[in-house]
Amino acid sequence: MATRLSRVATNACPASGHCPWPYTQLPSHPVTIDYMIIGGGIAGATAGYHLARYGRVLLVEMEQVPGHHSTGRSAALFSEYHGGPAVRALTRASRGLLADLPPGFATQPLLTPRGVLTLCPPGDDDVFDAHLRDGAEVDPPAREIDLAEIPGICPIVRRDRLRRAMVKPAARDIDVDALHQGYLRGIRAAGGTVSRLTRVRSLRRERGRPTVAHQAATTRAGSRSSASAESTTGGRRAAVRTSSNSSHWCS
Ligand SMILES: Cc1cc2nc3c(=O)[nH]c(=O)nc-3n(C[C@H](O)[C@H](O)[C@H](O)COP(=O)(O)OP(=O)(O)OC[C@H]3O[C@@H](n4cnc5c(N)ncnc54)[C@H](O)[C@@H]3O)c2cc1C
Repeated sequence: MATRLSRVATNACPASGHCPWPYTQLPSHPVTIDYMIIGGGIAGATAGYHLARYGRVLLVEMEQVPGHHSTGRSAALFSEYHGGPAVRALTRASRGLLADLPPGFATQPLLTPRGVLTLCPPGDDDVFDAHLRDGAEVDPPAREIDLAEIPGICPIVRRDRLRRAMVKPAARDIDVDALHQGYLRGIRAAGGTVSRLTRVRSLRRERGRPTVAHQAATTRAGSRSSASAESTTGGRRAAVRTSSNSSHWCS
């Protein structure tokens, strides 16, 4: 039978040194959760943040810290001009979501003006015109400019290599770190758990219940040890059991 998660919080970090977060050890008895999310990038953090209002969330991340992969490499551009129709529609829709985040979510603005300059070398007119057409839907729309305007926008561009140019004024910078950390903080504030160094190894069905096998690893004094564990979900609820107290969980 699953019991509620009773966490043993400690401010200590692994003996190996740097742990920027207080972490939690998962007790060896089963714990109940409503949603398990695999991966602590921006997608997992966002899903966890929004699901945390409906039930208990457990987010598992295999790396030392969430955001280690694509999210940590983003060029941080928010552009409603970019991509095919589906991507542009999703970006448009997410602008409202970002604007609706509660006060105190982040201490700095999440979106700030940037603007994009798009350049067209000889022979690329078809692509350029397609960008211009797509960009006409955005507010403010993409607009073709005279090449003579380029030095005022970006002095290092060589105009002699270009045929045409356009500006996309609504493109903005996203503070990806503030957004990501805000979502992760929100999961924890709602009573959810964010674990790190926990790699999901398999998903399968056992006796009618979805079962997640994962591996929690900790680094101690330069060596890496690991503990296997299994999580099972029964209906909407999930029970998470660790086989060893050496699995370390951040929250
Ligand atoms: C160079 C670059 C520039 C970009 N620039 C932009 C941009 O300007 N604007 C923009 O909107 N987008 C940009 N993107 C795209 C954007 O960064 C990604 O779409 C986004 O970060 C994807 O987030 P994610 O959460 O899906 O993936 P990730 O950030 O990769 O997160 C997935 C997480 O899952 C974890 N994981 C995987 N397998 C397991 C497992 N078995 N168990 C536990 N955890 C697991 C990984 O460790 C990882 O942390 C860029 C991407 C790159 C690479």
